[in-house]
Amino acid sequence: VGLRVAIVATGHEVVRGTTPDANSPWLARASTEAGARVTSARVVGDDERDVARAIDDAVAEADAVLVTGGLGPTEDDRTRAALAVVAGVDVAFDAQAWALVEAFFRRAAQEPAPMQRRQATLPRGSTPLPNSQGTAPGVLLRVRGVDVFLLPGPPREMRAVFREEALPRLVATGRLDPTAVRVLWTAGVPESEIARSIEDVMAAPEPVVGTHPDEGEVAVRILARGADAAARGDACVAEIRRRLGAHVVSDVEDVRVQHAVVAALRERRRVVTTAESITGGLVARMLVEVPGSSDVFRGGFVTYSDEWKRDLLGVPAALLESKGAVSAEVAEAMATGALERARCDYAVSTTGVAGPGPDARGAAEGTVFIGWASRDGGRGTLPLRFAVSRIAVQRRAAVRALDLLRRRLLGLPG
Ligand code: ATP
Ligand code: MG
Repeated sequence: VGLRVAIVATGHEVVRGTTPDANSPWLARASTEAGARVTSARVVGDDERDVARAIDDAVAEADAVLVTGGLGPTEDDRTRAALAVVAGVDVAFDAQAWALVEAFFRRAAQEPAPMQRRQATLPRGSTPLPNSQGTAPGVLLRVRGVDVFLLPGPPREMRAVFREEALPRLVATGRLDPTAVRVLWTAGVPESEIARSIEDVMAAPEPVVGTHPDEGEVAVRILARGADAAARGDACVAEIRRRLGAHVVSDVEDVRVQHAVVAALRERRRVVTTAESITGGLVARMLVEVPGSSDVFRGGFVTYSDEWKRDLLGVPAALLESKGAVSAEVAEAMATGALERARCDYAVSTTGVAGPGPDARGAAEGTVFIGWASRDGGRGTLPLRFAVSRIAVQRRAAVRALDLLRRRLLGLPG
């Protein structure tokens, strides 16, 4: 079935974990979305024998192999030599590859150093692949009927050579499956609840459906392959949407809860302000990530101490005293105070205990209250409890604050 692709990432800094491997995940995703079946991704150091063994194993299991790293001009760049060993050929200076190296230098008005000749020394029989982003040409060599692509290690160069040289050749095999990739971003409910609502959909062998928590939101990812992939992907999305209803934030990869909020505010010509304690400005920060946020957000309050909640937002001292800053009452008073002072249509507030440990009044770590108020008199609070560490509590609180605002704006439950 389909075109099997195996991936090999090389480099001692990658195998030792000092450079997180960015290449294999990117290649795995790009290959899958293009319609390949990724069989494995290996990570090895830059020892020639290790690289040769990894390529050899990859050739045994796949129809095409993507190798990254070790194409530079230095002694520790041994991927070309390793490929020659696997193919049982020697390496030789390649005039065509040298022309690519020279051309790259010429564009920068420079001359290649003699050492750069290593980059043009390829396993005999290979095709050099132009690299629009760097000096090292990629390499293509057919080994035991399998196309082995050597791609540069720096991610930007790797992506360019994959897109411009490797991918068109994979497409030309005619063996890539029709593939449809879809995503639904959700907010406001834990992954377990999302998964429970779509349990049967996830259990079906096709399309492949998975839930992936990411920074307080949960992505539902759909992968449909084979005939009618697009239609089956869309039908699956429609079914999941029907089940998840108000929890769905978007069906576009880069549209997250803050984008949905800004879009909803802009459509309605409404303006929001923020009153943040536990999130320390993160809600405001997330809003201003979105292009066009200046239409709907002029500023917010960061009121971390009781005094600032009192002095800037007018939260009554007696309320802070009797209920504590981490309380539904104070969350609501922060939102109403901000709403009046900033003369906005909506205000959203956060207060809580990020931890580690409880606050001075004994409120448990991970306790959060979100408050909101609207100009037409709407008010409310949302009590939450997160069992995660400090930064994650803050991030999730910010996501929930934005999601609460999204639901109020769109008239959705929850
Ligand atoms: P160069 O000409 O820069 O030596 P190269 O093709 O020989 O390129 P490597 O020497 O293996 O590639 O890696 C160069 C740099 O690219 C690494 O130091 C690292 O910063 C980055 N890099 C390599 N492989 C990866 C990877 N799998 N994930 C993320 N970054 C990587
Ligand atoms: Mg190198």
